[in-house]
Amino acid sequence: MGGRKELEQLTEEIRYHEAAYRAGKPEIPDSAFDDLVDRYEQLADALGIDPSERLDAQLGQEHTAGFETVEHRVPMLSLEKLSPNRRDSSGEPMPIEDQLDAWFRRRKKELEIDELELIVEPKVDGISVSLLYARGKLQRAVTRGNGRSGDVITKQVRRLGTVPVNLDGMAKGEIEIRGEIYWPLSEFARFNATLDKPLINPRNGCAGMMKRKDPKGLEETGIRSFFYQIAWEEGVAVPRTQGETLRWFADLGAEVYVSEVFETTSAEAALEYCEKYQSRREKLDYDIDGMVIKIDDLSLYSHLGSTGHHPFWGIAYKFPPERKPTKLLGIEVSVGKSGKLTPIAILEPVFVSGTTVSRASLHNFVELERKDVRIGDTVLIEKAGEIIPQVVEVDKSQRKRGARRFVPPDACPTCGTEVVSEEIFIYCPNPACPDQVRERLRHFASRNAMDIDGMGAVLVDQVVDKLGVRAPDGLFRLEADQLASLERMGQKSAERVKAGLEAAKGRGLSRVLTGLAIRHVGETMAEDLAGYFKTAEALLEFAGRYVADDDEAIEMVAPARSTERGAIEGLARKTADSIFHELNSGAVRDVFSGLADVGVDLTAKAATVKTVDAVAGKTFVLTGTLPTMKRTEAAQKIKAAGGKVSGSVSKKTDYVVAGDEPGSKLDKANALGIEVIDEDALIALLGAG
Ligand code: AMP
Ligand code: ZN
Repeated sequence: MGGRKELEQLTEEIRYHEAAYRAGKPEIPDSAFDDLVDRYEQLADALGIDPSERLDAQLGQEHTAGFETVEHRVPMLSLEKLSPNRRDSSGEPMPIEDQLDAWFRRRKKELEIDELELIVEPKVDGISVSLLYARGKLQRAVTRGNGRSGDVITKQVRRLGTVPVNLDGMAKGEIEIRGEIYWPLSEFARFNATLDKPLINPRNGCAGMMKRKDPKGLEETGIRSFFYQIAWEEGVAVPRTQGETLRWFADLGAEVYVSEVFETTSAEAALEYCEKYQSRREKLDYDIDGMVIKIDDLSLYSHLGSTGHHPFWGIAYKFPPERKPTKLLGIEVSVGKSGKLTPIAILEPVFVSGTTVSRASLHNFVELERKDVRIGDTVLIEKAGEIIPQVVEVDKSQRKRGARRFVPPDACPTCGTEVVSEEIFIYCPNPACPDQVRERLRHFASRNAMDIDGMGAVLVDQVVDKLGVRAPDGLFRLEADQLASLERMGQKSAERVKAGLEAAKGRGLSRVLTGLAIRHVGETMAEDLAGYFKTAEALLEFAGRYVADDDEAIEMVAPARSTERGAIEGLARKTADSIFHELNSGAVRDVFSGLADVGVDLTAKAATVKTVDAVAGKTFVLTGTLPTMKRTEAAQKIKAAGGKVSGSVSKKTDYVVAGDEPGSKLDKANALGIEVIDEDALIALLGAG
């Protein structure tokens, strides 16, 4: 299952870029960051990740110290996105047109209407702002913040001189208008040329400028605003459609992109407009990262409602990622935590989607061969929703005679050990390989694993290189004095790391298992194993029996009929073979005994289960969108009540909980005669304690 892996990778990327953002050195545009978070949320939903385990979706959007914060009367939500990565309930990729079609049909169904007017607008890539006007005068300007409350930037907005502070002809009442503050590209270029240290891009630049405590000089930036929405009003007569609202804003003296909008009753036509707009995009004097498709009739909005994340009145279309040609100068090979060798493209630096790219992953050697990538080639680079730059393809028409094929190495480039092949990958089999040791320890200390406070990548590298740490227990044996001797570490930070290590000792078995970077053991598998075996001792004892072909042990994982699942839920035979062989290896046993020696807790943390009779021991399958609960939330409640949640319907299923657009699981339930219930019925069962 690639999903888990991708989720872990996304987690790492998001954390990395969030830290860079906080340090004031963002490496990617915010739009690319948002893409990552969106992709993460989508994947986490698809995988049913518990909300408590998720990254905070509001990363990097916190309030700025020194600004007054106020709560938004109407939350400033995100928009749902049409995504090239979306899959339907059976796992098949879902084309954008089908996604939009499904969205549109659903809205019509909810409204019980056959025809519905849509309006398509550019999605301006600036920072959103809420503007409160009373009797036509600007009272307050607030950032989106975390969506519930934002920072007051009235002074800054006033100082710009380009955001209307008076709305013509509005003598009475109050109104909150939503708009986008943006930096026109020409103004940005002009302003940037006057700086010693140029700003990365207009969006980040604009955000930074608007968070200047002292607004002096803001009038010279040329930053402006677009108005696009009315959040609420009192005592002001407002238009009934979005299209009229935009024209009304123009009459009031605000800047709007009325000339850029398109109205239609056809989802197909709306999508076509979005796709064609790409060519128009390059001619605009502002960045847009996509289009927004909205229902035009504002009186319908209150019937449509929203999730906590996005409203149902609109959906965003994102432009396909930028693709740039550059020259492949060479190929390097890197060694990962499990010893996997990955070819890395060394590129002539090229500016793609907001950053300069000079390295890109080539994934694996089979892929390299398939794409027929040769050194000296002109390759096309893209970042997609993912942040890791990718070599998409070779421009063969540009191939020069001297272009060289790359031969996969026979030996590890770091330690020289002869490589082994497994499936499409090549591995360095030497667990003591310095690169592997570093990567493994970084992973062990990371937040999803042992979450050792203060033990970041740089420090791990130092303790490996300078203090000779080779295994996880070695981290716990470090003395504060040793740590303090390292670069950029004082006595105080050393003590913080020591405290972090002490705290990490108590995280429990599933975190330890996650941290060991055993193939196929991600967070969920680690929890399943820990939950089932309870102690490292029992787990290792079982691994020994499994590897020795003990029938009983094998039966627990994979009963004779291979389509059925064993006692350990979700563990298929092939995966089990790999996991228990690795667990039974001398290297892993040594790690466990080392950890036991230094006092790391190797027992499972008990999950808090308060059994509900109607649910305990019963197996549930969830399908479709439930009216109020997220599926993950429902799953969590079922588990907390002692029930089980399974991903597929079988004879063992007791209940299928079906929401809207339930998919094939419902058909299967009906075919097998399994009881199908709705969310209300589930809540009733859960309440019957
Ligand atoms: P996102 O943050 O990507 O989920 O998108 C929501 C944000 O898009 C809003 O907070 C606005 O700041 C921004 N936006 C830009 N242009 C528009 C538009 N035409 N309509 C609605 N939102 C827009
Ligand atoms: Zn090696």
